[in-house]
Amino acid sequence: MDGSRLPDATQNPRFTGVRTFMRLPAGDGEAAPDVAIVGIPFDTAASFRPGQRFGPSAVRDISVLLRPSNQFHGMNAFDKVRVVDEGDIPAIPGDIQRTYDLIAARYAELTSNNTVPIGIGGDHSVTLGELRGVAKTLGPVALVQLDAHCDTWDNYWGVRYTHGTPFRRAVEEGVIDVSHSIQVGMRGTEYAPGDLDESRRLGFEVITTPEMLQRGPADIAAAIRKRVGEVPVFLTFDVDFFDPAYAPGTGTPEVGGPTSAFGLAIVQGLSGMHFAGLDTVEVLPAVDSGQITALLAATLVFEFVALVALDPKRTGAKHADGARRRSQS
Ligand code: MN
Ligand code: MN
Repeated sequence: MDGSRLPDATQNPRFTGVRTFMRLPAGDGEAAPDVAIVGIPFDTAASFRPGQRFGPSAVRDISVLLRPSNQFHGMNAFDKVRVVDEGDIPAIPGDIQRTYDLIAARYAELTSNNTVPIGIGGDHSVTLGELRGVAKTLGPVALVQLDAHCDTWDNYWGVRYTHGTPFRRAVEEGVIDVSHSIQVGMRGTEYAPGDLDESRRLGFEVITTPEMLQRGPADIAAAIRKRVGEVPVFLTFDVDFFDPAYAPGTGTPEVGGPTSAFGLAIVQGLSGMHFAGLDTVEVLPAVDSGQITALLAATLVFEFVALVALDPKRTGAKHADGARRRSQS
């Protein structure tokens, strides 16, 4: 297939058409694509600023600016894997448990059809629902988390399901293999000394922003690949990983972070792993500026598609030339 799944912006101006991600075809619920873009517009687990429910539409809106070919990898990933925009999970404001059930059911169905979901949040609580669904099909996966925060606190105000607690819950529920999981980019103020040690005690490898900046993106990508090994991996990318100068549109910004170039270089260095799912979360359009943050998140999603296309365990199963039928579970 054809790059023709993506409209040619030299023929049809990129600001025209229906705002799916990059103007990709919308999922029809029948065919099983290689990659499904899934919006998860939920934000009532945010601890500070809400409004991430509008993240998916903001990311889709600016994603039409992206061109199909990946300069770093020297390929059009959309020619190698069939990608569709599956629309949004019908997230329920204020009801995280029902929303988790909806996310997990959709993700279990996608992964059981060998489709890799790429989620667009939503506050970071949504990733627990994604991990539950993926684990239902694949068992515990390695977690790679790029984020300024570990999100492994136990509770906020006695509430156990928030955007600051999903990865402690993921460990407790056994949906991730913590011995192959790594958290990268932590910085900023803490509630108490040793917050990071708590994450390490749970079993995560933790690399702070200062260490990351000193080592450089290639070395960090290598450390991630080494930690994950051959285990199927879920990559979750909180846009507050970036310095707020590069990603102002988010709920809990932390100064002193990396550039967009640094973060993209890490992601580009992650090819070769076996991806079970990926997401980017915490875009908050109401406090974005010039769509910078939404564009950065859209670019992450674009790079994620290339990572799936370059997955060595998928190269024998290219479906770009014809749609597989979706099996019912
Ligand atoms: Mn987070
Ligand atoms: Mn964060």
